[in-house]
Amino acid sequence: MVESCFSCFQPLYASEKCRHRQRYLDTNEYVISQGIRVYSVDYEWWAWRAGRSQKYGHDRVIEISSVAYLLYGWDVMTSVLIHEFGHCDLFNEGIAEGSSSEESLTIEKMANQRGAEITPPHLLPEQYHQHRQFFLRSYQENDWTEEKCRAEWAVLNAKVMRPTQI
Ligand SMILES: [Zn+2]
Repeated sequence: MVESCFSCFQPLYASEKCRHRQRYLDTNEYVISQGIRVYSVDYEWWAWRAGRSQKYGHDRVIEISSVAYLLYGWDVMTSVLIHEFGHCDLFNEGIAEGSSSEESLTIEKMANQRGAEITPPHLLPEQYHQHRQFFLRSYQENDWTEEKCRAEWAVLNAKVMRPTQI
């Protein structure tokens, strides 16, 4: 799932961008162009959570970790951004937090779907749905801890092929 692409684990604005890191930048620009505010969160302790979104009055805000790429790589971060973009679109229909874990899971799935529908296809990572499946498990398996999340991520990465792509 995480490609062994050196550039995917470099800071966002480091030189020699791979297509994944460039696609993150393009997606970020697109989301902002749709009237959504995107803030980066620099806390190491929050990195594993990667992203979240909220609505304050008429403002829709995405908070995305600036350091989670060290764990997930930029291609997964693009999928996180698109998922949060999906949530922001659902906010406008009055769909925010679920009142039960079942309802929350349904909303998470809706955000995955909506994000993919409203993002230009060339910005959607090829493995978007696999990336989202991983994060969906944190809801299905009842609130992962950071330790659990990192362990499951390591397991998943040991199992999958790592194509080299620059
Ligand atoms: Zn890359």
